[in-house]
Amino acid sequence: MSESLLIPCPHCNGLNRIPAGRLSDQPKCGRCKQTVLLSKPFNLTQGDYASQIKGDLPLLVDVWAEWCGPCKSFAPTFEQAATQLSGRVRLAKLDSEANQQLSAQLGIRSIPSLILFKDGREVARQSGAMPSQQLMAWLTSQGI
Ligand SMILES: [Zn+2]
Repeated sequence: MSESLLIPCPHCNGLNRIPAGRLSDQPKCGRCKQTVLLSKPFNLTQGDYASQIKGDLPLLVDVWAEWCGPCKSFAPTFEQAATQLSGRVRLAKLDSEANQQLSAQLGIRSIPSLILFKDGREVARQSGAMPSQQLMAWLTSQGI
């Protein structure tokens, strides 16, 4: 059995095919040679969005802004989740100020907002900061 997953590179948007058994071996991107699966969130932009929501690993996006206090206090929780969930879900941060067009397209009304994408589509959304335990419970309920 050699199941493999298609995973977009967070650095260059190149689509990589990675054997399931190698997800924890810090696989490198075939195009830019950087690490494909990070243990911390990467920055998502309008230009990357269409490429990054694709692939076989779900993408969890934290929509935030510099002026938002609750967003800042939630940031360490989100970073911790990225470490814990590496290889199971990809975590990204979307700066809603720098990416206003995409924020409008996603219908963001309040921040922080968490949006979970699977197979290129939004499957779940949560508004407001939450403690780590609640975040993990929500993701577990979403099959992650
Ligand atoms: Zn790459």
